[in-house]
Amino acid sequence: MNEFELIHTFFASQPVTRDDVAVGIGDDASVVKAPSGMQTVVSTDVLVSGIHFLPDADAASVGHKALAVNLSDLAAMGAEPAWFTLGLTLPDIDTTWLQGFCEGMFGLARRYNVQLIGGDTSRGPLAIVVSAYGLVPEGKALLRSGAKPGDRLYVTGELGDAGLALKHRLGELQLPDRDITVIADRLERPMPRIGEGMALRGIAHCAIDLSDGLLADLGHILEASGGGARIHLDRIPLSAVYRAYLAETGWDLALANGDDYELCFTVPPEKISELEKMKTEFPCGFTLIGDIEAETGLRVMDEAGKPYPFKAMGHDHFSPGDAKRTWEVS
Ligand code: ADP
Ligand code: MG
Repeated sequence: MNEFELIHTFFASQPVTRDDVAVGIGDDASVVKAPSGMQTVVSTDVLVSGIHFLPDADAASVGHKALAVNLSDLAAMGAEPAWFTLGLTLPDIDTTWLQGFCEGMFGLARRYNVQLIGGDTSRGPLAIVVSAYGLVPEGKALLRSGAKPGDRLYVTGELGDAGLALKHRLGELQLPDRDITVIADRLERPMPRIGEGMALRGIAHCAIDLSDGLLADLGHILEASGGGARIHLDRIPLSAVYRAYLAETGWDLALANGDDYELCFTVPPEKISELEKMKTEFPCGFTLIGDIEAETGLRVMDEAGKPYPFKAMGHDHFSPGDAKRTWEVS
């Protein structure tokens, strides 16, 4: 199979076809049309084998996650996904791997009605670059810079399971089958909080998706917005599985590991009743974990109400300590 046969076999026939795609795969570039009154939101993420996923990771999970992390960025902007492109470098043409990869990627694409409209394919070390394009009503995108003192601080879903599953996969912790089967998808097949992000338009002052860990990503909000925040450990939403290991692993996986792809957002007091009314749009739930304050800095309070001395602030690909890891997530 050559490059063109590969593109034809795996990418040219689309499980999703949208009316707003005038020209899709097959020409020099694609042509799409955003509805009037909408802005286009664009996000790109790179996934490199051995850095972002284990070289022997299940192909379907890799395909799912490559798209999911991009859709999660769109969700954090309040955007509805529409199209995506795929850059792929492969050491060789492994049709079994490609089949699995497409199954994972297109399974998620179908769920959110997002169409693959182009890409590029080349020989090279296994790496995947997805760019996702979404739509948001003009001026309604949720930014990191919108948090204001007095806002209440929320997260969707539960935190820390991706980190716990990673520890198991790396052999640093042994989880019994009954536990790893419950949380493995939180690491390998995260679900982007698309409906949740869209529901937050006009309600949240700001939002971010949790890819680097709550403390680091909340840090990004504070950097962009100014001000500070106070969060309470006993309010951090944890799964039953994580709770069972809390004494052993502590809070760090929930606070600083990242890869959870939940949304962290702030809501002004006058919009909280509106948020409460939107509960049905949040099948994963949302939890109040703290407040935005005028005083700069991040204050983490422990279960007894005392300052919790946190250390790790999440992941940085270029920090010397983090770069030493043989593989990582972000
Ligand atoms: P060009 O040489 O003009 O870049 P290519 O031969 O690379 O064209 O690609 C041919 C068509 O196939 C283009 O429409 C391109 O967008 C699409 N394509 C190539 N690789 C991929 C891929 N990995 N996923 C989706 N579409 C792809
Ligand atoms: Mg090309």
